[in-house]
Amino acid sequence: MDRLRIDHLHKTYPNGVQALKGVSLSMPNGMFGLLGPNGAGKSSLMRTLATLQPPDQGKLYFDGLEVFKDPVLLRRQLGYLPQDFGVYPKFSAMELLHHLAILKGITNKAERKEQVMALLEQTNLYSVRKQSVHTFSGGMRQRFGIAQALLGNPQLLIVDEPTAGLDPMERNRFYELLSGIGENIVVILSTHIVEDVHDLCADMAVMSGGQIVLRGKPGTLMQELEGRIWRKTVHREAVAEYRRSMNVIATRMIGGRQQVHVLSDASPGAGFELCHPDLEDVYFNALTGNRYTGKEAVC
Ligand code: ADP
Repeated sequence: MDRLRIDHLHKTYPNGVQALKGVSLSMPNGMFGLLGPNGAGKSSLMRTLATLQPPDQGKLYFDGLEVFKDPVLLRRQLGYLPQDFGVYPKFSAMELLHHLAILKGITNKAERKEQVMALLEQTNLYSVRKQSVHTFSGGMRQRFGIAQALLGNPQLLIVDEPTAGLDPMERNRFYELLSGIGENIVVILSTHIVEDVHDLCADMAVMSGGQIVLRGKPGTLMQELEGRIWRKTVHREAVAEYRRSMNVIATRMIGGRQQVHVLSDASPGAGFELCHPDLEDVYFNALTGNRYTGKEAVC
């Protein structure tokens, strides 16, 4: 059953930028990946879902309740890790979590202590709990960000671009943490990194230019492109010509050489070989505006 329903959200900033152009999405419990390039409108959507900015138009429902009629109802059930998560330099991880727990309304001291300790354990920060958060590495900071977002056992967890800037090892630790959060709450992971969605999410959407341009399960979306993605290793200088004459959806550097991926029902030319589509093909195809999957995107 869908717990979160986003219904035709529009948002235009005072400078005239139309960041959300009628965004609609529904999702049940589990990890949902919102994938899109910088400027697509992901953070604008996340801030709106976190009730930090009202939309100009549109509605939001959580468990059937209309959120903007009484935002406090959702805020009590919400955990949010914003893109620019700042920390107060003077406090230790444990002190800061206690402080944030009080702000979240966890006033019972014993309950607060139990939650803070459990979250420090869960995010693997227990051994550094007395260290000041500003001394933490990027990965530790993001895990701390998850700890604060999980205070109060939220039913909706919003995580905005959490892995940007993390090295591969920190990213893996962060994935392990997120994947352990459980299937009993709604988790929205906003990212421009295809791998994040591939590794973590059973359900996803692609956002571009303030709109949802594709929606589905990663496996199904890849399957829909099966038999239509052709690849060829080419000279760098030739890429522009391939782009002009064929439906090139992506180019990649592999071992210092350029590979083009072309979407086509039949072989686009000599030297092309059919390959199994991956999530990058799905993503880049959605961004090029192709509605070639045989089905219209169901948003
Ligand atoms: P994403 O998170 O996908 O990178 P954003 O929601 O941050 O996308 O941005 C979408 C568009 O809205 C961009 O053009 C951005 O410059 C603009 N934008 C974002 N926040 C503001 C703001 N507070 N005021 C004006 N324009 C904004």
